[in-house]
Amino acid sequence: MAAIKFDFTSCYEYNDTQFDCKPYIPKREPTPLEETCEDMLRVIFKKTSHVKPLKIKEIRFPEPLKLLTTRNKKVSKTLPVSPKSIIFNKSIMAKHPNIELDTASIFKSMVHMIDVLNNDNACREHLEQLRWNGEPICPHCGSKRENHYRLKNKGIFKGLYKCKDCRSRFTVTVGTMFDGSNVSLRKWFIAIYLFSSHKKGISSLQLHRDLNVTQKTAWFMLSRIRNSFKNNVEFKFDGITQVDETYVGGKNLNRNLDKRTKNSQGRSLKSKVPVFGMLCNGMVYTVVVKNTSGRTLKPIIEDKVKCGSIIVSDGWRAYSGLSKEFRHRVILHNKGIYKMGPYHTNGIEGFWSHLKRGINGIYHVASPKHLHRYCDEFAYRYNTRHMTDGERFNLSLINADEKLMYRELIA
Ligand SMILES: [Zn+2]
Repeated sequence: MAAIKFDFTSCYEYNDTQFDCKPYIPKREPTPLEETCEDMLRVIFKKTSHVKPLKIKEIRFPEPLKLLTTRNKKVSKTLPVSPKSIIFNKSIMAKHPNIELDTASIFKSMVHMIDVLNNDNACREHLEQLRWNGEPICPHCGSKRENHYRLKNKGIFKGLYKCKDCRSRFTVTVGTMFDGSNVSLRKWFIAIYLFSSHKKGISSLQLHRDLNVTQKTAWFMLSRIRNSFKNNVEFKFDGITQVDETYVGGKNLNRNLDKRTKNSQGRSLKSKVPVFGMLCNGMVYTVVVKNTSGRTLKPIIEDKVKCGSIIVSDGWRAYSGLSKEFRHRVILHNKGIYKMGPYHTNGIEGFWSHLKRGINGIYHVASPKHLHRYCDEFAYRYNTRHMTDGERFNLSLINADEKLMYRELIA
């Protein structure tokens, strides 16, 4: 029997010594058989390398309930965990047991949605179906029952429930972004559909005209929806991860003469805000940072990327020294190289292009204070790009489980 070499990856990995400004072409990809052998060997290697017998740890599954603060603070309140954007693409969603986008109907288009959900009652039922799937959950004590009391007003049931356990009253919107809003659910739904399906978003002035609400209300609605688009922070990237940073801010050419800042080209921080981004397996994650030094960026990479993964970056000096924990590949853009075998940073650069076009074209200005929300908004659309508009709409409704207050927003 032929001897099996442990690390088959060595024959297709980029070799540091071969780097002499020529594009590197990998010798060959490993065959499926080699890959399975390698995986098996890894398992055996892992098992035999432990000298002490392994202690059997109690297996903890992710807690399906999430604490949620609502008005009554005496009892801890729980609602089902939202998928947020762990997310993200269809295959991952299919494996995630908590995400069921098709418990309620998936709409083919906005017209279809408006036709079916043509009154507030229908909207409420759609939301109940998505959030509860037939079993109302009390947001005050977390009790999940099919037979909570349904309270009627003048003989008509309008979505008000009374908990069988803690006797508190609740509706499906308690603790969500629709809570305490005077805007009808129908208008909210149209706003969410427009906002989540338009590639570059929608401005508050446009929404104010579309929905016949004031611009202030439209801005607040958009802020709440944008807030619900934020990434779930509990994840680790595993695999080839592209990292890059960009600067968001106006150009001197577009400024009034007395407002121009001198020497603000390139990486200057005088009038621009740096944003750091990572992309792995088609999923993007962004953070607004105070500067782009190694001290700022390295902890983020170490926190979010699994040790031993391959990191691909440009030649910016902040990334030097990453090779201690990761396998680091540098693409020297200043030498005209943009791709070396499977390694490049074109994915994350493409995302920056989306972000900047969106901010310039639709919002014109994103203040540093709110920039992280805009980054999250574009990352959410990017990460859900394989879904249909109807699926993304349903996901946005499930994610609407946070009540952002106006005072927090303007603070
Ligand atoms: Zn209860």
